[in-house]
Amino acid sequence: SVPLSFFGGIGGASKCGILVKGGNYLEVLADTEIVVFDKTGTLTKGVFNVTAIHPDQFSEGRLLELAALAESYSDHPISRSLKEAYGAELDAKRVQQVEELSGRGVRAQVDGTVVCAGNDKLMEEIGVKWHPCHHIGTTVHVAVDGAYAGHIVISDEVKPDAAEAVAALRRQGVRRTVMLTGDAKAVGEGVALQLGLDEVYAELLPAGKVEKVEQLLREKSPKGRLAFVGDGINDAPVLSRADIGIAMGALGSDAAIEAADIVLMDDNPVKIAAAMQISKKTLAIVR
Ligand code: ADP
Ligand code: MG
Repeated sequence: SVPLSFFGGIGGASKCGILVKGGNYLEVLADTEIVVFDKTGTLTKGVFNVTAIHPDQFSEGRLLELAALAESYSDHPISRSLKEAYGAELDAKRVQQVEELSGRGVRAQVDGTVVCAGNDKLMEEIGVKWHPCHHIGTTVHVAVDGAYAGHIVISDEVKPDAAEAVAALRRQGVRRTVMLTGDAKAVGEGVALQLGLDEVYAELLPAGKVEKVEQLLREKSPKGRLAFVGDGINDAPVLSRADIGIAMGALGSDAAIEAADIVLMDDNPVKIAAAMQISKKTLAIVR
């Protein structure tokens, strides 16, 4: 039987925009000592601005158009942002055989040529040499028919409440705050420093994030629990592997909301500490 006060806890949370899918999750949350965050869309807004376009071939406008076309079928925050930056209507009929390569980018046929848009890993994979770039930001390389075509530099901002979210978790007794990202090391470390996170692991593919979470699960104390917080783009496997999975509800994908135990309806990470506080109060009555 479920103690009645759990219903009070779940109801209290829901009034704050925190959807808790069962009373047992309040117990897990109360004992959470490691909180692992995904970066893009979770601690950052997931809205990238284009800060520079460096073509090796074509004009700047043409390079952006090719990237936006290749990205036209993807829902990834980077894809959405490149389409937004391009601005004009994109003719989907020009795009075929789209492949999303999670943690790396996309490959698609655009006007009969093969366009790849993504990070260093993707360029390595397809054997295309790129120029080292010295920009602060996330780099989207573009290759056309196996030849390097240039790169687009984009950058995202941290959410206004993200630093407070990390500080508030520490006040709730969380011992380790960790960020995992598929983005470049410099970008990940910059965000971690800004937010006061304890640890950051960058340049991870989705499978690498699962491995890292499994390692952290082995490192926690016997009673301690691990929470993973993500937006659900490529992180449904980690959401279900953690003791408790927390998803962003507003921008997040349906798959993430499905896989998660707790959903933050307004995508505000500060709500995690609020949920922990509610869970501790509830448990104080029950235990
Ligand atoms: P995060 O771990 O920050 O949530 P992802 O795992 O979704 O990010 O992506 C990791 C990296 O893979 C991105 O920083 C980017 O370099 C590259 N990437 C992923 N999807 C795309 C895409 N659609 N277009 C271009 N690059 C992408
Ligand atoms: Mg992500």
